[in-house]
Amino acid sequence: MISYQCGLPHRAPRPRVNYTEPMINPTVSLKHVSLAREEACGICGATFVAAEDSGSRVLTIRVAAETFAALMCGGCHSKWANGAAATFRRPLAL
Ligand SMILES: [Zn+2]
Repeated sequence: MISYQCGLPHRAPRPRVNYTEPMINPTVSLKHVSLAREEACGICGATFVAAEDSGSRVLTIRVAAETFAALMCGGCHSKWANGAAATFRRPLAL
C-alpha cells in the first residue's frame, strides 16, 4: 500500500511478522549434493557446479509441508561454518 505524506510517495511500514512462532519442530539438514548443473551460490551469487566443489553444501529447512533449500559454495559454507552470518538471497529449486 502506498500512502502520501508531505507530497512525497512512500511505502507504509510492513506489519511485523513473527517468523519463528509457526516454525514448529523444524528439521534441518546440511549436506553435499552432487548437482551436475551450474547453479548460483545462494549467498554470494557465484555460479558453479556443485559436483566439482566438494566444499559446497545444500542447507534444507523443513517445517511441516514447507521446505526451504539453498546452495552454498565451498567458500561461503566455510565462512558460515566458522561463525560468519549468512544471508540467502535465492533459494535452490531441487
Ligand atoms: Zn558463495
